[in-house]
Amino acid sequence: MDKKNQISVWYFVGTFVILLLLQDLFDARHTETLAYSDFKQVLRAGQLESVELRDGMATGAIKMEGLEAILPREKLEKLAKSSGEHRFVTVLVDDPGLVAEMDQAKVRYTAVAQNKWLSAILSWIAPAAVFFLIWMFLMKRMGGAAHGGLLEIGKSKAKVYMQTETGVSFKDVAGIDEAKEELMEVVDFLKTPDRYKRLGGKIPKGVLIVGAPGTGKTLLAKAVAGEAGVPFMSLSGSEFVEMFVGVGAARVRDLFDQAAKQAPCIVFIDELDALGKSRGLNVMGGGHDEREQTLNQLLVEMDGFDTNTGVIILAATNRPEILDPALLRPGRFDRQIALDRPDLKGRLQILQVHTKKVTLSPKVDLESVAARTPGFAGADLGNLVNEATLRAAKRGKKSVEMVDFEDALDRIVAGLEKKNRVMNPKEKQFVAVHEAGHALVAEHRENVDRVAKVSIIPRGVAALGYTQQQPTEDRYLLRRTEILDRIDVLLAGRVAEELVFRDVSTGAENDLQRATEMARHMVTHYGMSEKLGLATYDAQPMPMFLGGPVMPEQRNCSERTAEMIDTEVAELLAQSKERVRDTLTRNREDLDALARLLLEEEVVDRPMLDRLLRRSDEAQAAPSSAQPAEVES
Ligand code: ADP
Ligand code: ZN
Repeated sequence: MDKKNQISVWYFVGTFVILLLLQDLFDARHTETLAYSDFKQVLRAGQLESVELRDGMATGAIKMEGLEAILPREKLEKLAKSSGEHRFVTVLVDDPGLVAEMDQAKVRYTAVAQNKWLSAILSWIAPAAVFFLIWMFLMKRMGGAAHGGLLEIGKSKAKVYMQTETGVSFKDVAGIDEAKEELMEVVDFLKTPDRYKRLGGKIPKGVLIVGAPGTGKTLLAKAVAGEAGVPFMSLSGSEFVEMFVGVGAARVRDLFDQAAKQAPCIVFIDELDALGKSRGLNVMGGGHDEREQTLNQLLVEMDGFDTNTGVIILAATNRPEILDPALLRPGRFDRQIALDRPDLKGRLQILQVHTKKVTLSPKVDLESVAARTPGFAGADLGNLVNEATLRAAKRGKKSVEMVDFEDALDRIVAGLEKKNRVMNPKEKQFVAVHEAGHALVAEHRENVDRVAKVSIIPRGVAALGYTQQQPTEDRYLLRRTEILDRIDVLLAGRVAEELVFRDVSTGAENDLQRATEMARHMVTHYGMSEKLGLATYDAQPMPMFLGGPVMPEQRNCSERTAEMIDTEVAELLAQSKERVRDTLTRNREDLDALARLLLEEEVVDRPMLDRLLRRSDEAQAAPSSAQPAEVES
């Protein structure tokens, strides 16, 4: 019997004993209840043996012989069955003559002094104790001691799921090595906090894991707890918000109290965006006081606790852009880890992890499965393996074969296409050419950051691919030529599509927006236009007034100037387009080669790019601490 069962047995025994005591109090075990009138008749007939008077009741023994005339039949039978002395109990009526009558009948009678204290205990406290024990028992059943249970926190109804052991380790998380590496530090700290404390090192309080659904955010957080061997407490942001006012905040407080008791531990907040939506965003639409209070409480708690206690908060979101900036400030979620959908290699590794416990036919080629699943997130791949296994099982096969994978793949791809999560081959070609255009023009412009990585793996909601540029230094000023070069890079995706396909796609929307914004700023803010001179024109949209809809732009210039601004912006963009077209036409071979490489590999990193462009000689530029800038889609 394990410890938990032992405890429940004790609860039962305790409850039972108390019930017995209660029964004893009323002597209900061996006695038969008599109506007072019957009792008087028995008394008058001289059949009473003895009587004890106590607290409004009389108990006693009856002589059975000759009672037939007085008591009904079934009473007699019951009395006969009661213990040896044929005991009875009756409730006394206000009857001043009773004592005289008993004297007359020569009954031996005694009055028992009531132990008020004891009876109070038994009659009041015992039932309460019974309920308490039952309640405790249920609570124990619901979690706490058990692992993986539901922990009901005190006064509030916070559903915090606690696992003392997650049973997940970094081995179970495949294809996201960079993220694992970053979290290694957190694991280290939880394992040997003293080493960090001694050095006065600062450990992050909160780490935000950003990634599309199913990319393994929860899995990664669990793995951190598993690696460090600490408890894992998790809750979902959306659960916090559907509460009565004030409860959410109380839950947050309780959560942190609990965490402090469990320390060292990991607290994982899923769907942080539900809780931490920018506070401005909702006010016009009636507001959401509750969410705001909850968020404020979270901020207060995060500021209040000390990492040295060993509590580290991991949070997950797939929409970091809507988070309240206050959450991202130093001392809160000041670290972000991005989980992308896995590339070819990553997908293969994830498939290997998920097929570890599956009997695969030797003919199954996981590499080709990986190659056919671009855009799949980890969860989709897990799902794929599962479907294939189920299919094989349904057919009574001994191992999972390639046909099973193919079948499952068809089914899942259809589902994902509906959800816009995988691209068809034609789309992929467009994205490849588009990204190749960005990357190539970035390579041919002096004043932009070096390309670190080009990818055609869909990322987030809008971006279908991205080109990541690594800044070589921190920047405070931008020269005119630099801005122009940046605009060139932004337009390059669209121009490349036009060149290669003689057709264009919607994928450039974000690029065009940003290019236009830059050009407009040059004209209206930086005095970089010959025609408009040095005057600035404040055409800033009103700041999102308390999160309301964006107000129409307020112009502080004449109609004619406004027209000139528009023409200038259009002119800047048109010139840029010509420059880009020129660059790409002259390097058409490189463009095609890079697009082809992207289609094959999905992700092209710096060394691959250097090899392709045969310029590996100048490959090493000092990496910088600045955040990589990205040109998306
Ligand atoms: P998220 O929290 O990002 O929505 P989850 O962590 O819940 O995603 O992932 C769901 C499931 O997908 C996991 O339980 C795991 O089986 C699988 N999975 C996701 N990413 C990976 C990965 N990188 N390696 C292995 N399995 C993964
Ligand atoms: Zn683009």
